[in-house]
Amino acid sequence: MPRLIMFDIDGTLTETNDVDTRCYVQAMSEHLGVAIDSEWSRYRHVTDSGIAAELLERHGRPPGELDQVRARFVALITDALRATPDACTQIPGAADFLRSLRRMPDIVIGLATGAWSESARAKLHHARLDVEDLAFASADDAESRIDIMTACRDRAASSGMPISETIYVGDGIWDAQASHALGWRFIGIAQGIRAEQLRQAGASKVFADFRNPQTVLSGLGVR
Ligand SMILES: [Mg+2]
Repeated sequence: MPRLIMFDIDGTLTETNDVDTRCYVQAMSEHLGVAIDSEWSRYRHVTDSGIAAELLERHGRPPGELDQVRARFVALITDALRATPDACTQIPGAADFLRSLRRMPDIVIGLATGAWSESARAKLHHARLDVEDLAFASADDAESRIDIMTACRDRAASSGMPISETIYVGDGIWDAQASHALGWRFIGIAQGIRAEQLRQAGASKVFADFRNPQTVLSGLGVR
């Protein structure tokens, strides 16, 4: 039975946490007319849709304004990526790693991101990651990361192939927590203090990047 390896995108496959945060904070702050709290771990759901919904609620704004904020954010990040392509690169080795996973017959690959799909696809495109045909779920599907990850798994399994195990690969504490809640194994992508935080949050392995694919594959238990 195939195993599903599911990836977060920002900070895991693409080096985009900075540009993403900058554009998100700008879109939300402009819309609300106040500086917003960018300590994401303080939000109920650390996803583009979850944070936006919570901010609109905190500021007494109608939930319908979410579409405006999303459109503004997508415009900002699209411009930023076009203006400074260096702002969006792959995490070292990510493209090759995905290619080697694709060649394995017993592996299904999924992408479950807390980003809105339009911005996620723009970032993947700029980072030159080939994600055509992979099971995909985003903040367009749900506010909760757990629900996004579950949607991705359901799409991966919809081909009729029963999935024996799902492993999530991410860079955030929230990724570790969601994986734990779902009972999935979690592999971290981080360095230094953040790597230690992911270990403490339950990561079975943590790697700085994908430059040594064999090591990551054995960490995933697929080699
Ligand atoms: Mg991330």
